[in-house]
Amino acid sequence: MERFQHYIDGRFEDGSASFESLDPATGEPWALMPEARAEDVDRAVRAAHRAFHASEWAGLTATARGRLLLRLADLVQTAAPRLAQLETRDTGKIIRETSAQIAYVAEYYRYYAGLADKIEGAHLPIDKPDMEVWLRREPVGVVAAIVPWNSQLFLSAVKLGPALAAGCTVVLKASEDGPAPLLAFARLVHEAGFPPGVVNILTGFGPTCGVALTTHPLVNHVAFTGGPETARAVVRNSAENLASTSLELGGKSPFLVFADADLDSAANAQVSGIFAATGQSCVAGSRLLVERRVRDAFLDKLRLKAEAIRVGAPHEMSTEMGPLCTRRQRDRMVDVIRASVAAGARLVTGGGTWEGPGFFVQPTILDCTEAPQAPCLGTEIFGPVLSVQAFDDEDHAVHLANGSPYGFAAGIFTTNLTRAHRLVRRLRAGVVWVNTYRAISPIAPFGGHGLSGHGREGGLAAALDYTTIKTVWLRI
Ligand code: NAD
Repeated sequence: MERFQHYIDGRFEDGSASFESLDPATGEPWALMPEARAEDVDRAVRAAHRAFHASEWAGLTATARGRLLLRLADLVQTAAPRLAQLETRDTGKIIRETSAQIAYVAEYYRYYAGLADKIEGAHLPIDKPDMEVWLRREPVGVVAAIVPWNSQLFLSAVKLGPALAAGCTVVLKASEDGPAPLLAFARLVHEAGFPPGVVNILTGFGPTCGVALTTHPLVNHVAFTGGPETARAVVRNSAENLASTSLELGGKSPFLVFADADLDSAANAQVSGIFAATGQSCVAGSRLLVERRVRDAFLDKLRLKAEAIRVGAPHEMSTEMGPLCTRRQRDRMVDVIRASVAAGARLVTGGGTWEGPGFFVQPTILDCTEAPQAPCLGTEIFGPVLSVQAFDDEDHAVHLANGSPYGFAAGIFTTNLTRAHRLVRRLRAGVVWVNTYRAISPIAPFGGHGLSGHGREGGLAAALDYTTIKTVWLRI
């Protein structure tokens, strides 16, 4: 079995305990992971605290920090094949997707490398002739970054990149499910030459490692990605030290298709919008809202495409959808589908699990138009299950779209641009895609409202989240 280690204070070490990681495609253990307990977390946070004040980091210019990030980006690019394979092995995410996403990971580090020396303060034209007043943007301090299992390299890049560019130090907790790629990534951080303690990477379970990290008095900011229930615990725990938080949570994103849309292009976007990453994506377009008069035609297109998806071994390039990351997720999926059908939802396609080992579920579509109480409509499922509702007009579409406590993303498919502009204003979402879905760039912030969290990742906005303002008054 492969063995992985933590990275604390510039050294690789075993955890206080260890646990086995399962290969989601077979359900068999394949690697031994270190498990951080409170004492490991404490050492990591103390190391980050020390590093934050040490001249090796605090004394570096922003340009020098940028150079380190640039080196890290190059190392990620070189190590891309190995990182992609590890992520596929440990999380079941298909190799096509992990390989494509690693390229983005390098791009995000490169973007924040360039941004490091462009985080500017300001000069204030105060109404006092004998005073100079200016604002300095300073790093918030020690950041606790916590990520879920899906896309760990990407979800940590959108935290590490801006936090390091701003001058913070970081303790990054990988998810206990599929931590291999992040623990391997620690070798690249080391090779890039960040001073010891600036970046610490460990893994462990929420109730032990996660709680120890979020309650630690030396943590100044918690950057969390995960589910809303965990986020509540994170906020409660970090409130003890009044640490600030940024929360990137789940979604139940509506995907609106109007009768005048290019239905083929909308169907392609909807299929990748829900079935990419086996539906384990915070921006999954999991609620299709389709104009009633094209519902049947559109569902026919979707069904054919869903049934043509090649589900199989995640490490094969020809595979288009892999297993879910954990048995727990697979079982949850089966329960939600069953309960939704019992509540009156019509199974358009899928609904079954896969014969044999591994945590597979078929691409599934449930028409809930006549079953508004179906459980698949209300909560985030985080799997390959699309819920459908028909609407009669624009107002009805907006009413259904906004009728969710989440507010992450929304997709609009229409050829009527005036309507698109009206909807952009009315939809409650942090990201709106018009006639496209899932487009991202390091330059563009993303994040949500309501149960989807607060704060933004990507762009300058994210880097500013890791800074605090110091106001300086100087009598002249
Ligand atoms: P989760 O909330 O169960 O776990 C996320 C992380 O929190 C894990 O590392 C876990 O160990 C840790 N954790 C658990 N309990 C904790 C505690 N009490 N204190 C501190 N840390 C704790 O989430 P998950 O089920 O692993 O991931 C799926 C969720 O993540 C979904 O809701 C999904 O939408 C969300 N997500 C959001 C984004 C985004 O960018 N907004 C991206 C991907 C996933």
